[in-house]
Amino acid sequence: MNSLKQLKKIVIDNSTTNDWASARNEWEVIPGVREDQDVNTTCICSHPNLRYIYAIRNTKNGNILTPIGDICIHQFDSNTMTNDASNYLALYKLCQAADANENITLSTKYFSRKLLLYLYDNNAFQPSKFNSYNPWNDYNFMLHMFNKRSPLSPAQKKKVSVLIKYNIIPCARYILNP
Ligand SMILES: [Zn+2]
Repeated sequence: MNSLKQLKKIVIDNSTTNDWASARNEWEVIPGVREDQDVNTTCICSHPNLRYIYAIRNTKNGNILTPIGDICIHQFDSNTMTNDASNYLALYKLCQAADANENITLSTKYFSRKLLLYLYDNNAFQPSKFNSYNPWNDYNFMLHMFNKRSPLSPAQKKKVSVLIKYNIIPCARYILNP
């Protein structure tokens, strides 16, 4: 059996319906991603050598399928699942960089516009006197700095690093390990 057929069979067997078109809509990506440093994990579809491993959950019956790779997650043809998987991976890499005491800058190495919005939607920025009690101002600042072509001023750099350290990293850790 080829790997796509195998994926569909396993997913359907663990869903409440018998056809792929409706079964695929019953699933969500469980927050988090696991890394196999040896790249030695085999996907439920039989595809070998996964590095980043996800788990998915059926929202109707609670069934969980893992290990599954991002290629198979794309097969569900769901923007939510695809975005969640890529955001969880980006958050995982951010936490890893923080653990390694890397200097995390607001660059495409760690961030994307999509990820900044995801962080805002997940309450990374909290109301405070520094943002006039409106977290949107922090999000808007970060987006503006991310898009900026000229170098950041020292004050802008400082604010960016404070928001990364005290808002974004704790939020990333919480999303991955609630
Ligand atoms: Zn697969």
